[in-house]
Amino acid sequence: MPIKIIPEKCNGCQLCIPSCPYAAIGMEGDKAVLFESCVHCGICIDSCPLGAIIEVSESGEILQKSISYSNILVIGETDKAGITKLSKEILGKAREFADVVGVSVWLIIFASDENLAKEAISLGADEVLLLEGINTTSYKIASIVKAVSGIIEQKRPEIIFTGETIFGCDVMPRIAQRFDTGILSGSVSLEIDPADKTLSCTRPFYGGRIMGITSCPQQRPQIVIIKEGVFREGGQYRERHGVVERIRM
Ligand code: SF4
Ligand code: SF4
Repeated sequence: MPIKIIPEKCNGCQLCIPSCPYAAIGMEGDKAVLFESCVHCGICIDSCPLGAIIEVSESGEILQKSISYSNILVIGETDKAGITKLSKEILGKAREFADVVGVSVWLIIFASDENLAKEAISLGADEVLLLEGINTTSYKIASIVKAVSGIIEQKRPEIIFTGETIFGCDVMPRIAQRFDTGILSGSVSLEIDPADKTLSCTRPFYGGRIMGITSCPQQRPQIVIIKEGVFREGGQYRERHGVVERIRM
């Protein structure tokens, strides 16, 4: 397939240049360009952090990268009081984005109490998956990664949110590695592009001296790890209806 660089997306970082085995990428001013020696192998596509290198059809039409991925999956956590404050904040943000782009919110919780599922639905989940038989305080990491990966493979969420907790930081890098995708973390603000559902995560670098934007434009699912207190809890909607599914581990 023909390859193209979108100049409006290119910031001139030059990360793509060494990725090309044919030395077919160069700079014109502050924008990357393809030389005639490009054989359209596509190797350079993943080297661009901004998704500026894309495949196009013979007629120049941009090819969709994630036709089979959709909806938002939240991996929630519970404590003695129920769904944790952080998971409620994440659910609120997931609901907000789902309403903007017209998709559903799924929630995984490692619990069997149906009241938790009802609470999650009232907080914005459309479908709650109760994963029974796993104790997340003394868990076997491999079995959790396997179970969550199986759900991701089956449901193919476009976005996965989870909390920046010991659990989230332990499990999600392994999941990202399995799905060959990236993790956005440290977010102080998160935006979604309604056109292609790519997230832009604004986060501090170098101890907060500069702010930058990270995104995962080419890979799906997009995984986001969120700290407590960054987003506000969503409202509770007593009349919401949703689906509850029990999965025995
Ligand atoms: S990696 Fe992407 S943003 Fe950086 S120069 Fe290449 S095309 Fe432009
Ligand atoms: S598509 Fe292949 S040949 Fe063309 S610039 Fe990218 S890596 Fe080089």
